[in-house]
Amino acid sequence: MKKGEKPKNLKAHNTHTVLDLLRKSDMVTVADVSDAIRLSKTTVKKIFDHLVAEGLLLSAGKGESTDEGGKKPEQYRFNKNFGYVASVHVTPDEVISVTTDLDADIDYKTKAAVSPGADLDEIIGTIVRQIRESIKRKAESRERLVGIVVALPGLVDSAGGISIYSPHYPRWGRDVPFISILRAALGGDIDVPLFIDDVNRYQAIAEREKGVAGGARNYIVVDALDEGIGSGVVLNGALFQGNQSLCGEIGHMTLNPVDGAPCICGHTGCFEAMVSAKRILGLANSAHASGRASVLFDGPPSRRIGLADVCLGAARGDPLCRELVEDAARWFLVGIGNIVMALDPELIVIQGQYVKAGDYFLSLLRDGISHIGLPLVEKKVRIEYSIMGEDRGVIGGAAFTIADFFERRLHV
Ligand SMILES: [Zn+2]
Repeated sequence: MKKGEKPKNLKAHNTHTVLDLLRKSDMVTVADVSDAIRLSKTTVKKIFDHLVAEGLLLSAGKGESTDEGGKKPEQYRFNKNFGYVASVHVTPDEVISVTTDLDADIDYKTKAAVSPGADLDEIIGTIVRQIRESIKRKAESRERLVGIVVALPGLVDSAGGISIYSPHYPRWGRDVPFISILRAALGGDIDVPLFIDDVNRYQAIAEREKGVAGGARNYIVVDALDEGIGSGVVLNGALFQGNQSLCGEIGHMTLNPVDGAPCICGHTGCFEAMVSAKRILGLANSAHASGRASVLFDGPPSRRIGLADVCLGAARGDPLCRELVEDAARWFLVGIGNIVMALDPELIVIQGQYVKAGDYFLSLLRDGISHIGLPLVEKKVRIEYSIMGEDRGVIGGAAFTIADFFERRLHV
């Protein structure tokens, strides 16, 4: 406690400390918490009673008796159904909408397809319908809605609530005040905090909460789709947005300005252009034209092959697919090598299509990272695949909203 701070703040501080611990634990007793945070059992018991009265803590019966044969202690657990989050992810072709409990676990999910390049009205209308349905389903429960969060594709100014630019939805235009539009469309009866951000940032939070980045404080999540690479950057435990929310736009880092592939942004040799489905499948087709055999061309001529087929083929040992994935891995190493030199993260998490190439691609990255610049310096960065599926955007958004609720909005 800072000098001069009032005891009331100390009480609130202690309550939040206890609550943080409870949220991370399964079952606890007063003695567990008292030992863990060095507060007296009397103080902890008072806080527990208060949290039980508020509905944040549930009594869960008696535990095992103590070694000394004393009486069995009362056990408690955090009430993860105290509230819920409505979390939405606008993907390039659909809107995924879920509700989660306060552990960011999904309890309801719905999806709706949207037209290619849908206008803003269609997207907002879809989101509002889904959120209203989610709220209706919770009407009978005692759970309160603690926040609404929408993960968007493209550049987002999360603090200003603005979608700066979305390459998948050019009809939205620039600098769309997304949060004010959504709030107006939801109507005045839904008065909870609204959040938006680039989906890649929420996906970075998801990896820490439920994925492979647990405990990490400096890490980068790289999501490579068929076309487009996004990333979320967490530095010193917090999402990093940068000066104008450009942080994470690594897909448009120039890797090969001399004779690289053209990028949708108008430049040449951007990271995402070098590893895109378009370029890799172009190489595959050239190889096919010159007579190379591959599992890629075993199907009927009408079969459309995608980046996923190349990655799966590489995982199964197809020589041409392996060459193509090696080519992509070389550009990945330039890209993530630059990130390592700029930010020195402890972990890089790879999400998206290339995960399907399995250990083959992963070991190319892991072996290659030691040979980037300053080869005499050991690179202590781990590279891991994501184990999360399509829900990583909504889970991350929910986790972000829950953290905001407990850190900034809950007054106990
Ligand atoms: Zn570009």
